[in-house]
Amino acid sequence: MSTDYEITDHTYDVVVVGAGGAGLRATFGMAEKGLKTACLTKVFPTRSHTVAAQGGVSAALGNMGEDDWRWHAYDTIKGSDWLGDQDAIEYMCREAIPAIIELEHYGVPFSRTEEGKIYQRPFGGMTTHFGDGTAQRTCAAADRTGHAILHTLYQQSLAHQAEFYIEFFALDLIMENGECRGVIALELATGKIHRFRAHIVVLATGGYGRAWFSCTSAHTCTGDGGGMVLRAGLPLQDMEFTQFHPTGVYGAGCLITEGVRGEGGYLTNSEGERFMERYAPNAKDLASRDVVSRSMTIEIREGRGVGPNSDHIHLHLEHLGPEVINQRLPGIAETARIFAGVDVTQAPIPVLPTVHYNMGGIPTNYRAEVVAPRDGDPDAVVPGLMAIGEAGCISVHGANRLGSNSLLDLVVFGRAAAIRAAEIVADCGEHKPLPADSAAYSLGRLDRLRNADGDEPTAKIREQMQKTMQEYAAVFRTADTLEEGSRRIHEIHGMLENVKVVDRSLIWNTDLVETLELENLLGNAVVSLDSALNRQESRGAHAREDFGERDDEHWMKHTVSWLQESGDVQLDYRPVHMTTLSDEMDVIPPKKRVY
Ligand SMILES: Cc1cc2nc3c(=O)[nH]c(=O)nc-3n(C[C@H](O)[C@H](O)[C@H](O)COP(=O)(O)OP(=O)(O)OC[C@H]3O[C@@H](n4cnc5c(N)ncnc54)[C@H](O)[C@@H]3O)c2cc1C
Repeated sequence: MSTDYEITDHTYDVVVVGAGGAGLRATFGMAEKGLKTACLTKVFPTRSHTVAAQGGVSAALGNMGEDDWRWHAYDTIKGSDWLGDQDAIEYMCREAIPAIIELEHYGVPFSRTEEGKIYQRPFGGMTTHFGDGTAQRTCAAADRTGHAILHTLYQQSLAHQAEFYIEFFALDLIMENGECRGVIALELATGKIHRFRAHIVVLATGGYGRAWFSCTSAHTCTGDGGGMVLRAGLPLQDMEFTQFHPTGVYGAGCLITEGVRGEGGYLTNSEGERFMERYAPNAKDLASRDVVSRSMTIEIREGRGVGPNSDHIHLHLEHLGPEVINQRLPGIAETARIFAGVDVTQAPIPVLPTVHYNMGGIPTNYRAEVVAPRDGDPDAVVPGLMAIGEAGCISVHGANRLGSNSLLDLVVFGRAAAIRAAEIVADCGEHKPLPADSAAYSLGRLDRLRNADGDEPTAKIREQMQKTMQEYAAVFRTADTLEEGSRRIHEIHGMLENVKVVDRSLIWNTDLVETLELENLLGNAVVSLDSALNRQESRGAHAREDFGERDDEHWMKHTVSWLQESGDVQLDYRPVHMTTLSDEMDVIPPKKRVY
């Protein structure tokens, strides 16, 4: 190994990796509680993917009609296809109400009703009275809700004097005897190495949508937290569940929010038919995302797609009129104009189901502590490690996330992480010295990649991974396609041994960073395909054509997946929590999921 790495040491109570909605909510919550808190982020905080969230954040405020957080919990459990942990869902839906009021007080500029209350719009799968009516539950700041939330949270973090390390790339966790003791990071501008010692590391690194060819997520969504966890010998959970959003712009992949259908937009096929009426007679275009994406895919497969190649679907909002569009959906009008060349007041938007959200991630309990099965305990806590946001799997979204429940998950569990961290740190005492070789593994890896002189450029391996995931980890799956997909993704993972990095410098080396990101993406991708091959049922977003029904007897359980150094995947299971935290809510027993 070359010796030109300069190491700078830091000590904090808590280090949060990631400055999206989840990371910032945790960061300022911890700083507010008096913990010495650092936040590391590879992009400037307000450029995190959360900034792109459009439609809104759910909470049963009841500002626009009757509502109850238990109805929200019911919808979330049904949306999860009974794979969500009901204790965590109870916590999220109950805490949603104070968490959103708190956001308003921190300064989020929500849109308003006539009486000046927070404006709420309908969203897919959100109902009243345990499935009967349509709930208006999604709190919105026009169609730029994530932007409003992220900027507010960053301002609050600065106000509470959290320390930011911006454009720092976290490489690996420092683990000792199964405990997390800190994290190693690369300062992108200088190539300096920073070693952070902390009582708690919080991973808030977002999703891994970029493992697919066409996705709505930012280029930075590369599953770095999942990669670090796999390398630390810890498992990921429910990685077979990937959400396809029904309305990505055809050809470009950019998102058109579900809020469009919430405001009255609808889908048609080549015959001009509102086909969702056939698939989901009650909820129609506002059925949950897995249901709408499958229906669209079937329409296209059966030859009723629109366009010269009959390969996409139309989304109409012309009938809403320019006033509603300008007031409630201005960003969408702009996106459609730029990326589809469409004036939405005159013509429909061409759309296609597009990879949007990863339900799977780092398993945690509802206090955001990372868990991993150990010595017969499926819920054993990994000391010193937390995970929140899209990187985590609490699991509140189970097999399918409802729209507007992710922004909620970020703020509720970012806050929960701060509450729990304050309790833990109070008992921690002095920092112990780190193991002498604490940076060796990570620097060895960095050095190997920086000097990698194989035959395959990073971009080529990445493209093969993305095309493989797109084709095989798709809306519909069978044993044949998944076996082929698994074989290919393992082969592509193996190609990393033979990667070629051209830039050997340490100053802003994007070639190296993309290679580090590729290694993380590949770890996530391999366990995703193997978990999908293993699960022989259809549940939520995991639709097997060879196992068309949900099978609660055998499969109402979380998949946990480890990636061994050999590249092999090891699988096990954790039980779904069918319990609640209080007597304010009853467990919702499984039943058939229809919309
Ligand atoms: C286009 C779009 C629209 C959406 N709209 C909605 C919506 O309306 N409502 C809703 O509920 N959900 C929505 N979602 C989903 C939701 O926005 C995301 O799930 C959520 O924002 C993820 O937040 P996060 O904090 O977990 O991660 P992100 O916002 O992705 O942030 C990740 C952070 O981690 C940092 N990071 C990552 N890796 C490293 C590393 N190695 N070292 C250092 N830092 C690192 C990044 O710099 C970044 O700060 C939308 C998603 C997309 C893509």
